[in-house]
Amino acid sequence: MAHSQQIIHIHPQAPAKPAQGAACNGCGVCCLSEPCPMGMVLSGRRTGACRALLWDGALAQYRCGAVQAPRAKLEQALPPALRWLARWLAPVLRRAALRGIAADQGCDSSLEPEPTSPGPVASTTMPLPIEPHAHRADPPP
Ligand code: SF4
Ligand code: SF4
Repeated sequence: MAHSQQIIHIHPQAPAKPAQGAACNGCGVCCLSEPCPMGMVLSGRRTGACRALLWDGALAQYRCGAVQAPRAKLEQALPPALRWLARWLAPVLRRAALRGIAADQGCDSSLEPEPTSPGPVASTTMPLPIEPHAHRADPPP
């Protein structure tokens, strides 16, 4: 079977991807390689890095923006005329995201990243919006 390769740009401080089935450590590899179904909606595309993915510098982990900052991600995804809905839809998105990513079931990605250069690679660092209902205790991503 042919193996396809893809270059992803990952934060130099991101943890190494664990083995499939091990506890998720927020390495971000899965969400940087392609968006999940919810990420496709939030990103407005089916390929490439998910636009909902956030880099948390304090934790040095990637986090799912649909869980950590659902209102901000909805405002980013909705057309201007519908952005007022974000406030009301944010709790629904967050609950759906927690169910969808099955956060407590460990890493479900079989991807095997290989470094492309010895030095730091281009960063996908994004600010982590602070929302009143953001929960740092949520398991990654
Ligand atoms: S589920 Fe994604 S973010 Fe979590 S460890 Fe696996 S590849 Fe990394
Ligand atoms: S889990 Fe969150 S960050 Fe990852 S692809 Fe899905 S919506 Fe995007």
